[in-house]
Amino acid sequence: MNSISKPPALACDGVPSQEEAEAAVRTLLRLAGDDPTREGLRDTPQRVVKAYKELFGGYQVDPVSLLERTFEEVSGYDEVVLLRDIRLESYCEHHMVPIIGRCHVAYLPERRVVGISKLARLVDAFSKRLQIQERLTVQIADTINQVLQPRGVAVVIEAGHQCMSTRGVHKPGVSMVTSRMLGAFRTDPNTRREFLDLIGHRAPGSLDF
Ligand SMILES: [Zn+2]
Repeated sequence: MNSISKPPALACDGVPSQEEAEAAVRTLLRLAGDDPTREGLRDTPQRVVKAYKELFGGYQVDPVSLLERTFEEVSGYDEVVLLRDIRLESYCEHHMVPIIGRCHVAYLPERRVVGISKLARLVDAFSKRLQIQERLTVQIADTINQVLQPRGVAVVIEAGHQCMSTRGVHKPGVSMVTSRMLGAFRTDPNTRREFLDLIGHRAPGSLDF
């Protein structure tokens, strides 16, 4: 699993120019069977290029320094910290279509705690890239483990994959669940059960895939 847990490079070499990127979008429009010169599509390449920068903004964020900048020494709190139902928007690296779901992140602080918004930002930093759900889960858990050095980390992601719902086998409503348990969440059944109970008590249908 070592190769899968390594964060990818922050940016690829040879970032294309605006013109090259817009030309690529026009090629895909033609591939779809449409005419890139017609009125409604004239500004589409420019908009798509702009949208890509936002959708894949995770490549511009260094997840480790995101957490490193913000931790505080813990003052006696040693119970589970859980951020539940973090909205997750990622993109399947095989088809470049959305993976939409939610992520639950928990850790048992040893010496350091981090602002909860930083955990949500960490999820974004890894999810706003081309991903597979398994690697995304591992990267989030391992980064928290590496930077905060807690007694344990647990990450669960439940998500729907549009490459499965809108194409291919066409199976909407299916969600994929992945988890990564480290430290006490892996070795102590009571700690793991507490976490699973906590994330189990949520309102049904709180998120649309
Ligand atoms: Zn896919």
